[in-house]
Amino acid sequence: MTNSQLDRLINLEFHKRRNWLSQPVGYYKDKRWYPSKNEKQKCCNNINTLSLKTHCRTKRHIKNLLKQNRLTEIEDEIEHLYELDYPTKHLTTIALLTQEAIEITETL
Ligand SMILES: [Zn+2]
Repeated sequence: MTNSQLDRLINLEFHKRRNWLSQPVGYYKDKRWYPSKNEKQKCCNNINTLSLKTHCRTKRHIKNLLKQNRLTEIEDEIEHLYELDYPTKHLTTIALLTQEAIEITETL
């Protein structure tokens, strides 16, 4: 996935959440909403629990979330390639995925 493809996904999810076409993933406890383990990002740490659901609709949060999701996807893809019979056949793909992960990490 290129950076601009990831940016497009971020913009799309931002648009959907802003227009209530998509919801942050979470749960209610004592009438308060909390993000799920996967939804929660570093940016959520200093947010008042009353504002968390609104925060999870911000561009900043969605950026962190989708970048983190993509990093997890890349890790899984690389792990999968190493498990194949001839992982050395996939070194170019592994190198490209690694480069993509480095670039994403630099913007987190
Ligand atoms: Zn957040």
